[in-house]
Amino acid sequence: MSIKRYRAKRDFEKTPEPKGWDVAGAQKASKERIFVVQKHQASHLHYDFRLELDGVLKSWAVPKGPPESPGIKRLAIHVEDHPIEYAEFEGEIPAGFYGAGKVGIWDRGSYVLLWRKVDMLKFELKGKRLKGNYMLVHSRENQWLLFKLKEATD
Ligand code: MN
Repeated sequence: MSIKRYRAKRDFEKTPEPKGWDVAGAQKASKERIFVVQKHQASHLHYDFRLELDGVLKSWAVPKGPPESPGIKRLAIHVEDHPIEYAEFEGEIPAGFYGAGKVGIWDRGSYVLLWRKVDMLKFELKGKRLKGNYMLVHSRENQWLLFKLKEATD
């Protein structure tokens, strides 16, 4: 569980966002892996792409949003891990606080992790908007690329 950075950035007296379970709680999280994409109207509109992995939501901020078809590569900025229950979060982070602005669920569903390396993840998304095989590939520093693969999945 590595949500220390997540907690350090926020004042849970002021933001409606979840504080996150303790370690024991996180490990009780559902066995089906989930993903969520939250549209976040912060100072700059972006889409937060989150995959359940290692008891947290591994998270990337995608300024232009995840691609719905192959052939489009989107910049995805790796950000701090979020607690699993953040996947349920929709609401308004108050002005003056970290991430201030509206958060709404843009897509969600389950996913299958196909393989994983330090700098690469391949997975099949089973969302309403996002379906099929995707990759996240590390580029440099906190920058990754998110794209959909051409291969058929069903
Ligand atoms: Mn965000």
